[in-house]
This record gives sequence, C-alpha cells and structure tokens, in this order.
Amino acid sequence: MSTPATQRSTGTTASPIRVRDAIRALPAYVPGARPGRDDVAKLSRNALPFPAQAAVVEAVARAAAEINRYPQMAGDSLVAALAARYADKGVSPEQVVVGTGSVALIQHVLDTVCDEGDEVVLPWRSFEAYPICVAVAGATAVKVPVTADGRHDVPAMLAAITPRTRVVMACSPNNPTGPALTAAELRQLADGVPEDVLLLVDEAYLDFVTDPAVGDALDLLAEHPNLVVSRTFSKAHALAGMRVGYLIAEPGIIAAIRSVATPFGVALPAQAAAVAALEPEVLAETARRAGVVAAARARVIGVLRERGWTVPDAQGNFYWLAVGEETAALNEHLTAAGVLARPFVGDGVRVSVGTREDDDRLLAALETWTGSRA
Ligand SMILES: *Cc1c(COP(=O)(O)O)cnc(C)c1O
Repeated sequence: MSTPATQRSTGTTASPIRVRDAIRALPAYVPGARPGRDDVAKLSRNALPFPAQAAVVEAVARAAAEINRYPQMAGDSLVAALAARYADKGVSPEQVVVGTGSVALIQHVLDTVCDEGDEVVLPWRSFEAYPICVAVAGATAVKVPVTADGRHDVPAMLAAITPRTRVVMACSPNNPTGPALTAAELRQLADGVPEDVLLLVDEAYLDFVTDPAVGDALDLLAEHPNLVVSRTFSKAHALAGMRVGYLIAEPGIIAAIRSVATPFGVALPAQAAAVAALEPEVLAETARRAGVVAAARARVIGVLRERGWTVPDAQGNFYWLAVGEETAALNEHLTAAGVLARPFVGDGVRVSVGTREDDDRLLAALETWTGSRA
C-alpha cells in the first residue's frame, strides 16, 4: 500500500529499548486534516456540525467543580443510564462497559480474547483504526474486501473464518464507504460466526441511519452470547472531544473486558457529559439533529448523482467518492477550493456532511472537477 497511513510511526528511535515488532510495524493513524485557515469547510472527521447541547455543557461545567476527586471507577451512573436507555432491548447494567472512546474499547476487546498469531476477520476498506488495534493485540488482520458498492461481503467474511479466528468485526454503517448491514445481513453474519468466535459490531453511526431495512445489533444479543455491540458519544451526540464510548454484550464478556479496561478511565466531566446526553430532552434533540444531517446527506448525494456521480448508499454522516487512482488529485482539488475531506490514497475520498454552507462549498468545488465521477 502506498497510503501515508503506512508510514512507520515508531520504527526509528535513539532509545536502546526494544519495541515489540508488531508495534514497530504499525501504520500511523492518520486523522482527518485540521484546517490551516478559518474559511474552510471542515469535512474530514465525521464530527457533528453542531456544538454540544447547552444542558450537556452545563453538566460539564458543574463537574469541573469536583475534578479534585476521582470519577466513579467503572462509571456506574453512566452504565445505569445506558442500561435504562436500552431497557426495551433487555439490556441490564452488567451488560455495559464504558471507556475512553469506542476505539479504546475495541482495543480492550481484542486484548481480552486474542493471543499472538490469532486471526481477526474484518471488512476492508473500513475504519482505519481496526488493523492498528488488531496489530497492537498481537493478532493478524484478515481483510475481506467490501463489494463494489461498499457493502460488507458477508458470505466472504464467513468463508474467511479459520480455526485461528478469534474475532469477526463489522462496521455498520461502514466508515468510510457508507452502507450499513441490513437486519437480514446482520442475522446471516451472527448465525454464521461460530459461537466461540467473538462478533464485534461497531455501530458508531447508527443514529444517522434512515433505511428501515438496516438492522440493530442489539436485537441479536439475546440469541448470540458471542456478540459485542460498540457505540459512541463521539458522533451523533456531538461529544467527540469528551472521549466516551460503550460496549453492550453478555455479562461474562463484559466482566472480562472491564478487567482489561483502565480503572477510572472515563474522566469525571466526560461521565457527566454522557449522563446528561442521555436525558430524554437531550436525546430528542440529538435525534432531531441526526435527522437534519440525514436530510442534508440526501440533498448532497442527490445533486451528485444527478451530475453523474456514482455514490454508494450512505447511512452515516458521510459519503464516499471512490475515485481510485485519482484520489490524491481530487483531494488537492478540494483543498484548493477550501474543502477539507479525508483521502484514502488509491481508494477514494470520504466527505462528512457539514453545515448547509459547507455542503454548498463542496458541491461548488466538485462542479469544476473534470476527473472521474467514481
Ligand atoms: C468515529 C468512529 C468511532 C468512534 O470512536 P471514538 O473512539 O468513540 O471517538 C468508532 N468507530 C468508527 C467506525 C468510527 O468512525
């Protein structure tokens, strides 16, 4: 691969300490670009184009008065609030673990079940943090290509399972390609994964889904004690800066993951923010905003398709322009027009849904693009 993501991050050091080979070979995580100037449309990190809600900010301010104290060790109040939120899905507090963002929790899952040389089956292209987490756990990523329209290839993923497979990962909606697993696909995956292999379904963008055929992995928990569902406060809840995510699974797996997770991991203001984000009025506004984002997504993609672009189904707050070899050129074109997107060299450009103004800037920039329309 020739992406910047393969640059070695830790390979050269003046220190005599021997860094594990798996760590020396890690690709650097390349976050979406930060703006170098003010007048740019920042569509590179899939963050919500709205600030956190006032009630959440007030909860953080109140929590600031207590930060000389440790937070609750395992975030019991937040865990209880999450269990209450999903009570209709039969979720109890011992089925929930919270952590410093879902990426940290995904790492904990892999550290909990993988030994050196074990295999983790994952869709590709998908979230770039996955192969890094797998490598840190000492395991081997088995990447199963997504289909031409950016969907998980469920039969191919099931066929990739070997006796060394310990985890199968899914991302629904898939970052960066956009489609989500239907309820039927989720069921096919869950039914096909052997019961002693952990199935991790990352639903970071589920709040933005509008297609009624898309599944909710929580509905499969009762039948599948090997299933772990990952969600986050970073996207629809507009709390990316607070770093809070959570997992829901069978109590035995959750207990094992808790023993791996950093004690007192979620900071006191972050716990307060997440609890406040689960208040009914705040949740209602979060759902309304997710609807606004989904409508903006439909508008932009509608315009692009009218112009002849092929855009895969987009169920998150982003869409995928699979221009392949022209990715770097398209990204430069967008940057010159004041639009920061997220290029994956050789594959395509992911664009987040932004404000109306941001989206219009993106549409104007693409109007003068003369290259491939994916
Ligand atoms: C943004 C994102 C997350 C969220 O990560 P946090 O660590 O909770 O901020 C998880 N999974 C995917 C696929 C994402 O794109």
